[in-house]
Amino acid sequence: MADIIYTYKNQVYANITNKCDCACTFCVRSLKDAVGEATTLWHEKDPSLEEIKAAIDAFDFTGYEEFVFCGYGEPTCALENLLASAKYIKENHDLKIRLNTNGLGNLYHKRNIIPELATVIDSVSISLNAPDAESYQKVTRPQFENAYEAMLDFAEECNHTLSHTQLSIVDVLPAEDIKKCQEIADSRGVYLKVRKYS
Ligand code: SF4
Repeated sequence: MADIIYTYKNQVYANITNKCDCACTFCVRSLKDAVGEATTLWHEKDPSLEEIKAAIDAFDFTGYEEFVFCGYGEPTCALENLLASAKYIKENHDLKIRLNTNGLGNLYHKRNIIPELATVIDSVSISLNAPDAESYQKVTRPQFENAYEAMLDFAEECNHTLSHTQLSIVDVLPAEDIKKCQEIADSRGVYLKVRKYS
């Protein structure tokens, strides 16, 4: 059975779905079956809310301050379980909750999901991945045509609604692209996190 809760570099993560509306060229899923302390992050079938709650109950959160939704799939593709399990964490543990997302949840669900996220999620990290729509389409291969603009709108709206919002890129991008990404984040008023490649 796949790990629902796993740890990686002193952080605890929830792997609640393998569904994703992108097919990123760099996705770690195509390279290996797990990261960190996990054995496999491929579910035979996406876990039910009861199974997620059971995994939460079985985990010792001592020493952790934050619970991060980030696994082998896009957490907002399992929105109901994301919201319900985040609520369960809030009710039972003193942990901040972060969502790592591709920022396409509003497109996927064809409505604004941010008010629902805001009831249980403290911070959101959105993968920017590219400095323009064309290269974004090439590298993330989303199911949608207008994904780049929608992802930026999502980030801007989250920034108005949640305690902390960041766009993120990895420092493998050329310096010129990193500069452009910074300008885009600035134009949306959203903090840009440049993560080290690992
Ligand atoms: S959005 Fe995340 S899970 Fe989905 S393909 Fe891209 S990197 Fe992989």
